[in-house]
Amino acid sequence: MPARNVGYDRNNIFARILRGELPCRKVYEDAFALAFHDIHPKAAVHVLVIPKGAYMSFVDFTATAPPEMQAGFWRAVATVAKDLGVEDGFRLVSNIGPEGGQIVFHFHVHIVSGPRP
Ligand code: AMP
Repeated sequence: MPARNVGYDRNNIFARILRGELPCRKVYEDAFALAFHDIHPKAAVHVLVIPKGAYMSFVDFTATAPPEMQAGFWRAVATVAKDLGVEDGFRLVSNIGPEGGQIVFHFHVHIVSGPRP
């Protein structure tokens, strides 16, 4: 199992948003996750959900996060989709690693729904 935090930059943009050092347009928060609007929306609804922990990617998160964190995070994703009113139709996207187009190396999922703005 890969070690947790290997290569994690604690000053990445989303870590700084989690610490309250940078602003975000928050839509949801609980003990496990924070959700906020993507700064460059690709559709009418484009929200990011991030876990409250130092995980670089989906691969890191699923390999190393405690079970209650994993359950709490995915429950939060479902809650956010419901709160946004898109639970009947949305895309759930996670870019993983440079080859997967990941730009911010704090694990996050994109909730995307509706036409481009
Ligand atoms: P990716 O790592 O490829 O999933 O892309 C990171 C996403 O984060 C992009 O869709 C950016 O528009 C978005 N993003 C970057 N900085 C911010 C920010 N400060 N607030 C909200 N979204 C951001």
